[in-house]
Amino acid sequence: MSDLLANLNSPQLQAVTLPPVHALILAGAGSGKTRVLTTRIAWLISTNQVGPHGVLAVTFTNKAAKEMTARLSSLVPINVRGMWIGTFHGLCNRLLRAHFREAGLPQTFQILDSADQLAMVKRLLKNLNIDDEKYPPRELCHFINAHKEQGVRAAQAEAYDNYTQKRVEIYAEYENQCNREGVCDFAELLLRCYELLQRNEPLRAHYQQRFRQILVDEFQDTNVLQYRWLKLLAGGGAHIFAVGDDDQSIYRFRGAEVGNMREFERDYAGANVIRLEQNYRSHGNILAAANAIIKNNRERLGKNLWTDAGDGEPIRAFEAYSDLDEARFIVEEIRELVRDGISPTQIAILYRSNAQSRVLEHELFTKGVPYKVYGGLRFFERQEVKHALAYLRLLGNQDDDTAFLRVVNFPTRGIGARSLENLQATAHQINSSLYNAAASLTGKAGQTVGAFVRLIETLRQETANLPLPEIIEHVVEKSGLAQHYRVEKEGQERLENLDELINAAATFVDDEGAIGEGGALASFLAHASLEAGEHQAGEGQEAVQLMSVHAAKGLEFDVVFISGLEQGLFPHENSVNEGKEGLEEERRLMYVAVTRARQRLYVSCAQTRMLHGQTRYCMPSSFLDEIPEGLMRKLNKKAESAPAVPAFGSFGGGYAEPAAGGLRVGQTVEHAKFGLGVIVSSEGRGADARVQVNFGGAGMKWLALEYAKLTPV
Ligand code: ATP
Ligand code: MG
Repeated sequence: MSDLLANLNSPQLQAVTLPPVHALILAGAGSGKTRVLTTRIAWLISTNQVGPHGVLAVTFTNKAAKEMTARLSSLVPINVRGMWIGTFHGLCNRLLRAHFREAGLPQTFQILDSADQLAMVKRLLKNLNIDDEKYPPRELCHFINAHKEQGVRAAQAEAYDNYTQKRVEIYAEYENQCNREGVCDFAELLLRCYELLQRNEPLRAHYQQRFRQILVDEFQDTNVLQYRWLKLLAGGGAHIFAVGDDDQSIYRFRGAEVGNMREFERDYAGANVIRLEQNYRSHGNILAAANAIIKNNRERLGKNLWTDAGDGEPIRAFEAYSDLDEARFIVEEIRELVRDGISPTQIAILYRSNAQSRVLEHELFTKGVPYKVYGGLRFFERQEVKHALAYLRLLGNQDDDTAFLRVVNFPTRGIGARSLENLQATAHQINSSLYNAAASLTGKAGQTVGAFVRLIETLRQETANLPLPEIIEHVVEKSGLAQHYRVEKEGQERLENLDELINAAATFVDDEGAIGEGGALASFLAHASLEAGEHQAGEGQEAVQLMSVHAAKGLEFDVVFISGLEQGLFPHENSVNEGKEGLEEERRLMYVAVTRARQRLYVSCAQTRMLHGQTRYCMPSSFLDEIPEGLMRKLNKKAESAPAVPAFGSFGGGYAEPAAGGLRVGQTVEHAKFGLGVIVSSEGRGADARVQVNFGGAGMKWLALEYAKLTPV
């Protein structure tokens, strides 16, 4: 506790120690928003203003949630296990698991990821005999998700024309199908959780009483439904502490509403708004480039970022002949940096589109540089892993048609397309799951499908009492998956991935400790869906970090490469075609990318690039022109060797917080003139005793206890 507040500047300190009020911390990149949010949780807990139990904190990724929990346990001596810190999806999943009955879900309900969702929509179109060229499945997924993210069910969806009318009908069919199978897509997790809390008074009251302090990171990217969810939970008098940066709003395409920030100020009239303007992350040149870029956006709430870190190195710009050439340059630079002592984990390569990673990966691999990809080809999305998960899903929930179809004939069991069509027609007729409909099949189809159903039954009985890793091992072996890959030509890597799945389960059991409602298997499957992409192989190995700009939000690295800065790629042509709003969103993305760098930033582009199997001739990105010339150094092909980048200094310093005059630090007090406040620190004794109080809107004050009338609240 004593060091808790030591490493904060004055507005940060003010934000952290605000009395229990609603607050909005509106600040630019790298100004300490996440640090403030984490420290505030620690502060609230260590000054007994709330128990760990009463905190709900929403982060942007599961990775961020983990980091926050780790940080928290280093700041306060509490058991952080079981605290409600996570993503919107993760938290909603948890709540729905605990109250599956009230939510109208099977205990072991499964989560559909975007690929599953797409498969389900395709299947529906087929069943309903709808032309998938006229109604492209991907667009339908988008249509459905966009409605859910606005909190709109099919029954309430408006149709202006016949075409939309049809889409609404498909949406309704999709809802039925999900309900029948007992599965939820990502957007459904939130919507269902929201509806549950809205309609179930006692449950709502319970959680409203429980969560007294609600904290939200990356608030600028909340969508309409997420914001309503927060408001609902805070409806019993809890306080919302939101931090965000309108310049980093990059999920408009998923319904994020920067307007939520303005609305928040309005809804919680008098919400304290604190601005943090000092950037601690980046050297001056990098920050100047970021500021120069974002200045071109018109829709801004307006902020001014500065740093006292000094200019640092110039931004290194490289124009390559081709994408391959660009990759070679980047990897060559990385090897030099690593030779100079930079840790590979402190080096990130960012790209606008996941497809760009392949060339980079190839080059890294060829040169023997360990790397890790976030997003893109995800562990939990690999074919063999999804097959294994499908078997596991069926153990928990036989009605999961998506899982059923994935493995009913994998490994092959002689079940033909005709049999499956029959099965689907039967299921449709008797309105049951495929699994249950299997019993009605006759002839050869009845036999082969029946054998599959019996296999699942046997697996279920055999694994009933096994620990999670053994369940997976057993299923992988007895389902025939392992054997299938053993004889497959390139099956070795797939077998290794299946082993890795068992490892992942073992780690999961160790990490989670107490397993939630629904048992270890259900929790693990939910984890697999939610955390896809964050568990790359080679855990623990020092590796260069590859990710899309979207995935880099909130993170920081000593050295950052932004690759593929070409017109059409970054800014992306799809967004540019949307006009000004699209371009501004791309520019925010660029701003996010630039502000990830602490000490050194590289920007590169290529004159030609292979995209979707074709060579494209590219123009350098207009964003490169927005960086003032004076900040950049153009590199030619023979890059000079780079000097070592010094490591970022660690923090020190102590902080004393004695109790004074019967009052203690952390206590909420009332002052006749300044109103409610919280004691932040104190000094002196007896007649000299003074306390520092944070009065929120009225600011931070030092008050002599002898004169100031402070009433404990
Ligand atoms: P982003 O907008 O990218 O999410 P942020 O505003 O959340 O950034 P943080 O990640 O919290 O910023 O902080 C950026 C960096 O600055 C971190 O390394 C953090 O530890 C450091 N930092 C923040 N505040 C201070 C401070 N008062 N003194 C020293 N370092 C600080
Ligand atoms: Mg942050």
